Amino acid sequence: MDFEFSEEQNILRESVRRRMDDLVTAEYVRRLDREQAYPYEVYDACVEMGLLQMPFPEEVGGLGGNVLDMVVISEELSRKSFDFFTAYGGSVFCGLNVLRNGSPEQRAYWMPRLLSGEVKFSVSMSEPDAGSDVGAMRTTARRDGDHWVINGQKVWATGAGAKNNVINVYAKTDTTVHYRKGMSLFLVDNDTPGVKLRKLDMLGRRCVGTYEIFFDNVRVPADRLVGGENNGWHCVLSGLQVERIASTAGYAGAAQAAVDLAVEYARERKQFGRPIGTNQAIAHMLADMQTEVEAARWMMLRAAWMLASGRDALREISMAKLFGSETYVKVANMGMQVLGAYGYNMEFDMQRHFRDARSVTIGAGTSQMQRNLIAGLMGLKVQ
Ligand SMILES: Cc1cc2nc3c(=O)[nH]c(=O)nc-3n(C[C@H](O)[C@H](O)[C@H](O)COP(=O)(O)OP(=O)(O)OC[C@H]3O[C@@H](n4cnc5c(N)ncnc54)[C@H](O)[C@@H]3O)c2cc1C
Repeated sequence: MDFEFSEEQNILRESVRRRMDDLVTAEYVRRLDREQAYPYEVYDACVEMGLLQMPFPEEVGGLGGNVLDMVVISEELSRKSFDFFTAYGGSVFCGLNVLRNGSPEQRAYWMPRLLSGEVKFSVSMSEPDAGSDVGAMRTTARRDGDHWVINGQKVWATGAGAKNNVINVYAKTDTTVHYRKGMSLFLVDNDTPGVKLRKLDMLGRRCVGTYEIFFDNVRVPADRLVGGENNGWHCVLSGLQVERIASTAGYAGAAQAAVDLAVEYARERKQFGRPIGTNQAIAHMLADMQTEVEAARWMMLRAAWMLASGRDALREISMAKLFGSETYVKVANMGMQVLGAYGYNMEFDMQRHFRDARSVTIGAGTSQMQRNLIAGLMGLKVQ
């Protein structure tokens, strides 16, 4: 067994950490969270440092990294803010999808634009009546000459309102068949006539933002359909494992940051003439928090390693996603207890972890849906 990252991966981690420490100060994160402002500087730094390009092959302008490199980047970005990481994740996950499923012309068009930072990508599947049950989506795309016309409503689209964002939207192209056979993927600029966006007032992840989108007779050229007509479900599945494991790495990085905050506070905060961390009750709580994060991280790393070595890791990734997301929620909650009233105060950072964490057992497949999947892979029939 080998539990080591490569020398290059250690250097990658160090350089991301150093750059993020310089750029993403605690005050910067607090200000953006307060102002609900998109972290453009962080996104630009990801482009400038080659982090965005890392998971893409060299022939399309990438750096030829693998899923383990992505995991390192995801962890490090999320140590600053899981919310900020989702800006990176959106572009990378959608970009890899276009790479896998796009035509040579589509790859040649989109890859340079994405990897240079000229455009960003976001994904939009969910609708008011189609959450876990993606197939219930009602947004449609109808062919009209050399265009497609999209109509419908989407919701909860992360980062869709950012400057130069191209929404990777799934719509029904055949409503008469099962959704797995009648859904397609379209790339729609967020300023296309007929697209109306509204940034929603969410508990957390307030910078990259969560959007409601209305499509009112939105016309896109035929070459904006990626992966072939009625092949959207294949596009969704083809990237699922990489997306889930990179997000899970984000949970581990963010959860570790919450533990670090709590430990630092427990060392400094004095009550009854001594640091609160000298109370066994607090020290044990911190020990439990670190143990859970460590377990979540190793589940994630093993699953990522399996995927990087070309194995199917759906079971391991689903378990790591489930455990990792629940762990971030748990440690942010315990962290608030360690900080007392300061944890509950908007001027301290633990509340942001508490708010951001609460989304991760819901987004990218709820904990219940992960359990359904895991139980199914155990041979159980779950209704
Ligand atoms: C912050 C945030 C960002 C998001 N970003 C995006 C994005 O970028 N793009 C996008 O398309 N979507 C996005 N989503 C949407 C996300 O994918 C959905 O919220 C998720 O799929 C769940 O759908 P729902 O919220 O409608 O809940 P529902 O599916 O209505 O579920 C409600 C509850 O019922 C449970 N449940 C439902 N079905 C079952 C079942 N069969 N068995 C057991 N329990 C079940 C769920 O687990 C949950 O607890 C985001 C969500 C959040 C919170």
